[in-house]
Amino acid sequence: MASLEFTRRYAMAHRLLTTKSPKCAIPHGHNEFVTVRLDPTEPFRFGGANSAAPFEHVKRRWHQWIDEHVDHALHLDENDPLIGYFRTREPERLSQIITFQGDPTTEALAACFWLKLTAFVAVEGLAFTVREVRIEETPTNTVVINRQNFDPSDCGLRAGVWPRRSDMSINDFRD
Ligand SMILES: [Zn+2]
Repeated sequence: MASLEFTRRYAMAHRLLTTKSPKCAIPHGHNEFVTVRLDPTEPFRFGGANSAAPFEHVKRRWHQWIDEHVDHALHLDENDPLIGYFRTREPERLSQIITFQGDPTTEALAACFWLKLTAFVAVEGLAFTVREVRIEETPTNTVVINRQNFDPSDCGLRAGVWPRRSDMSINDFRD
């Protein structure tokens, strides 16, 4: 099977409190592109369908998640006091908040995307592994997560949190 790559666009907003940048501490937005690359666990061989058909399932699930849950979400550190505001004043909007362990940087988002896509691939039982996640934050600023700079089994993220689950969640709020 061949490697597969696909791209999706979404709008997002975030703010960074721990990062020492006053410009980034006010909520602001980006229109981003995420490109993911999947490698087959087996090499391509001729015969039969000659394509990785189940891949369409994971692509559909991934794009559905991006379109319906990630697009127009607000990304916040799980300790950001804004979450308290939404909890008490606009709880109906909590479902549009993506939470992070630490600042919601593009690097952290790319790592979360990696884990979420890996969970989707696993639940579909696909013979693929996530090779690379690339987020184009602006036309001149792209973040790349791959196996050289990211170890999913030793990345400091708590067990059982939303990026590790194969459901459509983007946070760990309980109602
Ligand atoms: Zn930003």
